[in-house]
Amino acid sequence: MKDLQMVDLKGQYAEIKDEVDASFKEVIESAAFINGPQVQKFQKELEENLGVKHVIPCGNGTDALQIAMMGLDLKPGDEVITADFTFAATVEVIALLQLTPVLVDVKPDTFNIDPEAIKKAITPKTKAIVPVHLFGQSADMDEIMEIAKENNLYVIEDNAQAIGGNFHSEDGKSYKTGVIGDVGATSFFPSKNLGCYGDGGAIFTNDDKLAHTIRGVVNHGMYERYHHDVVGVNSRLDSLQAAVLRAKLPRLDKYNDARKAAAEKYNAAFTGQEGIVTPVITGKPDTHVFHQYTLKITNGKRDALAKHLQEKGIPFGIYYPIPLHSQKAYADERYDEADFPVTNQLVKEVLSLPMHTELDDEQINYIAKTIKDFLNQ
Ligand SMILES: *Cc1c(COP(=O)(O)O)cnc(C)c1O
Repeated sequence: MKDLQMVDLKGQYAEIKDEVDASFKEVIESAAFINGPQVQKFQKELEENLGVKHVIPCGNGTDALQIAMMGLDLKPGDEVITADFTFAATVEVIALLQLTPVLVDVKPDTFNIDPEAIKKAITPKTKAIVPVHLFGQSADMDEIMEIAKENNLYVIEDNAQAIGGNFHSEDGKSYKTGVIGDVGATSFFPSKNLGCYGDGGAIFTNDDKLAHTIRGVVNHGMYERYHHDVVGVNSRLDSLQAAVLRAKLPRLDKYNDARKAAAEKYNAAFTGQEGIVTPVITGKPDTHVFHQYTLKITNGKRDALAKHLQEKGIPFGIYYPIPLHSQKAYADERYDEADFPVTNQLVKEVLSLPMHTELDDEQINYIAKTIKDFLNQ
């Protein structure tokens, strides 16, 4: 059996090696390391792929979220609602900008932000909602967009885990996740579904004015050389990373299909197994691109199983072990434990298994059998 890994980036590189090596050589020989032709071409290609007017590349996914928020007219103390169950970057940038994060509970089936909880958390100070398409599955964007419209709120999509995924609206139209709200942010961290070979990120929007603002924010607030109109940051995607992303983008659907096929094989292997709930897809099958394959272990044995997997050398992840509202940095007396029943339960039950484009049947069957043997002993 091939070595088990949570993410197998070497196997994926082998297939695109010639292309990537050649463009790396070209970038190095041209010395156009920053904002060179590779970055500009990638920007255009991603705009086309996502069906969005503007892609603004930047340094990483956390920056992308921060810059998206800096581009909107948000002021210190404005409240921004986001999910209690996500990677900390989402809430971190809200706090960093001196906005007030308001964490709300998620849904027990999809792990995505609960529109009912959003409604309850809205106050006169609320200015924005940040849905996260967690683990690769689109959040309930119809409900979220409707709540935003009724309450005059911005929607900033955290699409770091769901690039290439789809959302099918009740209006009959289909969209790529990340381009539905006012602005979207993604990450090209190596292990993401579209990953480069270092750090990278991008912001998406259909709003011309916002795109213009953001293009200045990523570049020290400059719209004209050495004229600094707003306080900005320095956040860039470099040409070498853009070259990798250009090789991978045409293969993104194929990569996401491989992830989905692996997820289906895991699902089949766990069918009927007591104590396991496999991932639930509430929309059409292509609304989930399986950034993570996350089980719920519902018989109280999650930690014992994790220990067993560790002993057996099977990689796994606990995403996420602590609710954000319980983290020291984000605790707030406004929170009541009774408002987070789902997240408080999920942190005790979730277990993510190896998920990448190179998983084979032998590996999947071995992982599933090891888990089932343990739970059934
Ligand atoms: C990875 C990730 C980010 C941050 O991306 P970086 O490129 O690592 O900064 C933000 N939000 C979510 C949900 C993520 O998974």
